[in-house]
Amino acid sequence: MKKLRLKKTKPKPKQKNRKQPNKTARSNVGLVDYFMSMFRFNIRFKFTIGYAIQILFLVIVMAVTIYYGACQYVWRTQLSSFHNNSENLELLINTGYNYSSETIKDITDNLGLEILVYNTEFEQLYSYPGSKTEEFDLSRFDNSYQWWTGHRFPNLYKKISIENNSEATIFIVLKKMLHHQIDLFNILMPPVIILLFILYFGAVKSASKMAQRYLEPIHTMTSQVRKISAQNLSTRLDIRGTKDELKDLAHTFNQMLDGISRSYEREKQFVSDASHELRTPIAVIKGYAALVQRWGKNDPEVLNESIQAIVSEADSMQSLVESLLFIARKDRGTLKMELQDFNISDLVSEIVRDTKLIDKNHRILDDIAKNLTQYGSADKLKQAFRILVDNSIKYTPDRGIIQIDLKSSDKHNIFMICDTGIGISKEDLPHIFDRFYRADKSRTRYNEKESGGGTGLGLSIAKIIIEQHGGRVIVESEINIGTKFAVFLPKKADSFYSQQ
Ligand code: ADP
Repeated sequence: MKKLRLKKTKPKPKQKNRKQPNKTARSNVGLVDYFMSMFRFNIRFKFTIGYAIQILFLVIVMAVTIYYGACQYVWRTQLSSFHNNSENLELLINTGYNYSSETIKDITDNLGLEILVYNTEFEQLYSYPGSKTEEFDLSRFDNSYQWWTGHRFPNLYKKISIENNSEATIFIVLKKMLHHQIDLFNILMPPVIILLFILYFGAVKSASKMAQRYLEPIHTMTSQVRKISAQNLSTRLDIRGTKDELKDLAHTFNQMLDGISRSYEREKQFVSDASHELRTPIAVIKGYAALVQRWGKNDPEVLNESIQAIVSEADSMQSLVESLLFIARKDRGTLKMELQDFNISDLVSEIVRDTKLIDKNHRILDDIAKNLTQYGSADKLKQAFRILVDNSIKYTPDRGIIQIDLKSSDKHNIFMICDTGIGISKEDLPHIFDRFYRADKSRTRYNEKESGGGTGLGLSIAKIIIEQHGGRVIVESEINIGTKFAVFLPKKADSFYSQQ
């Protein structure tokens, strides 16, 4: 025999101190996240800072790329044009071109070159334009070379030796300074940097405004949620104009509130109904106790009657409290049942036999299939079937017929009870399984005295038991014709478990 706890409550996860994340958490989240978790920053601030850092990174990468790209472009085009021009000039010089100083000036001016002339001792003889002496050792350099003088681009040189009988007699050096390009860079850099900063701060500011606009509904929701309390569960979040995740969140929250308020109302109703049901037997007990106190000592008849009434009321109170405890256990998920295979045919036969013994006012008919096995709690299923049988007796006029059947299909054992009683109206039918629900009392208090009256909990308990077995109950009824309940119970243990 197995003892099962049908609804398991999961152990609550340990609460972590959010203000002081532990070491593992610290290693998982980055340093920035760790820092952020230490203080309370609002989402708008976090969003803006995150955005600002990303944009800054992008701007820097973009500016550096553009700058170096432009430098490379300028440098490569200038270098190749210098090589072409200087080679052409060298060709001219070496082919014995008869040049005058004016021609040289024209050519160098046009090409943006400087010209320097050295003797074989590497002393500067002539320079155009200007007469500045270059401070480097000409003998160390090959024909083409570059010399950095601390500017953005190096100066470009081309050394041409004028030879006579294979002996160098003079050196002509062509020089190109990229100062125009450097000047262009120097002029363009400050406004470009300022423009980039303006664009950057503009982007960050608009991101911050955007964040504020998008987060506005959260502020609205927060202030609306603050107003919600147990006394004011009817308030709902109202996010107009947005059709995004926040709207979904508000919608889900409203649905949750609907659920909470429904179950809160149900709980309130349950408590008030339970107190109401308990009040009557308590009043009766008090009344009889007072009777005994006054007259009971001298009148044995009064004493006897009072004691019987007190015992009977105490019994009904006990049964009510047990029903309430059963329902409460189900709600808490702590309902326990003894589960095993048992002969359901014997169980139903026993119920029929007992009913026939107790109730002589109705015709009890039965058709019970033999030797059907059911997995579950025999005690609890007997309780559920008894509730259905008692109801049929209660709500069927004397000499009415009550038919009790047990059948079996491939997967289910089917318990059916059909009576020719007063029936249930279409309006009441959807509610008869609700807690404390009783259909129109004036009509249904049929054999109430004989049956001890009802609390409106019977069918709720029967339904709980059947559903805990993975089964279902269906009901059909017609006023003044009768009522039929059919209970479908899965036979196999695995289908039983699968539905838990
Ligand atoms: P009660 O203790 O009042 O019988 P139940 O939960 O067992 O409570 O039943 C709820 C209501 O369903 C009853 O008050 C009754 O109106 C209706 N009902 C249940 N079974 C029958 C039946 N066989 N015939 C007619 N009405 C029924």
